[in-house]
Amino acid sequence: MTRRHFPMKVIRAARRRAGARCEAVGTDYGLSAGIRCTGDFAHGVEFDHVVPDQLGGEPTLENCAAICRACHRFKTDKVDAPRIAEAKRRWDADNGVKKPSRMAGARNSPFKRKIGGGVVPRHARGDA
Ligand SMILES: [Zn+2]
Repeated sequence: MTRRHFPMKVIRAARRRAGARCEAVGTDYGLSAGIRCTGDFAHGVEFDHVVPDQLGGEPTLENCAAICRACHRFKTDKVDAPRIAEAKRRWDADNGVKKPSRMAGARNSPFKRKIGGGVVPRHARGDA
């Protein structure tokens, strides 16, 4: 999936809206609920997808927050990455995508284990 970056006009508008202060608010950024970050942009400004692109967040001004690096790092590592990983796991589970087992005798293995203990190739249905 191609990442959809914020258009320049969205970035400009978010930066203007933020003024001198990081726009991060709340627990997703490692702050208390409802509390806004007191950081400024002395170490640079970054533009966060409030709802991550990979979770369907649009590259719009409403979904863009001009935030300090510390807040961006926290949210990306502690909030966004686990949510994206969980969404992938759920999608896989819902769609029957799973890692093939390498254990001989597992149903999706090319080998089967005989009752006596031997391992033989599993033939395609109707093959043997
Ligand atoms: Zn911040």
